[in-house]
This record gives sequence, structure tokens and C-alpha cells, in this order.
Amino acid sequence: MGTQVRLKVVTPERVVYDKDVQMVVARGAEGELGILFDHTPLVTPIIIGVLKVKVDNTFYPIAVSGGGFLEIKPDQITVLADTAELPEEIDLDRAEAAKRRAEERLARVERAEDPSIDVVRAQAAMQRAMARIRAVESRRN
Ligand code: ATP
Repeated sequence: MGTQVRLKVVTPERVVYDKDVQMVVARGAEGELGILFDHTPLVTPIIIGVLKVKVDNTFYPIAVSGGGFLEIKPDQITVLADTAELPEEIDLDRAEAAKRRAEERLARVERAEDPSIDVVRAQAAMQRAMARIRAVESRRN
């Protein structure tokens, strides 16, 4: 099975995940990384999305928001993010409602209806919602 690497996913509020895993697929600022034990040390900003965590030969998704870092050491991967959720913690209806709200805001921007809308904020909310939905959906497959 190969040597495992520790994965810690931490937010300012809680430790979301802390286990030995076979591999983590994560997106940093430079693109997607497949991280195994003994990876070269690296620190990069974390991108909103879904971490794929290989445990017991199965990929398990964890939704992460931005605002933090992915830190890789040979024996430990740490993801520090504003928010992170395991798929079983995600309220799908809430994520779908958040996605709709963000879509509506961005549509109003497209139609130049409301100059007070913060586009970057709406896009980030949309990406968080989409990551949560993807995490739930990939868990079902
Ligand atoms: P919403 O508009 O629904 O609050 P959001 O993307 O603005 O969504 P965040 O600010 O990213 O929410 O998160 C606030 C807190 O709520 C965090 O603790 C986060 O883990 C949790 N959270 C957000 N959305 C969900 C969800 N769909 N299911 C479970 N927990 C969620």
C-alpha cells in the first residue's frame, strides 16, 4: 500500500480532518497536485474546491474554501482554509440556495442592473457552493 502521509484539514473554528492517507489531490495556486508521502516541501495558497483524499483505495472528497494555505512536508499535508466540510456535513439544499443567490447576483451584474454588487465576492460564494455540491455528488458515486 506504500507509506502513508498525514493529512490535517483545519479551519479557524475546528479540525475537520486528521488522518493518515494514501494520497491527496489538491489545487494550489500553480495547479493540481497529487501528493504522496515524501513530497517536496511546498507552501501555496489553497484554491476553493474539492480535495480528493485517497483512503482505503477510495477517493473521499472534502470541500474547502479559500483564504488559506496548502502546506506540504514530507510526512504531513496541512490545509488551512476559512471553511471546510466533509461530504456528510454538507447541507445540499443550503449549498444549492447559495449557488442560486450567487447566480442571480452575477446575472444582475451582467445586465448592469446593480453597481453595488461585489462581483469577486459573488464569484467566491458561487465557487464555494459548487465545491460543496460537487463534494456531495462525488460521494454518491
Ligand atoms: P451560505 O450563504 O449558505 O452561508 P457561504 O458560502 O456564505 O454559504 P461560508 O461563509 O463559507 O458560507 O461558511 C459559514 C459556515 O457555514 C462555515 O462553518 C461553513 O463550514 C458552514 N457551511 C456553509 N455552507 C454549508 C453547507 N451547505 N452545509 C454545511 N455547512 C455549511
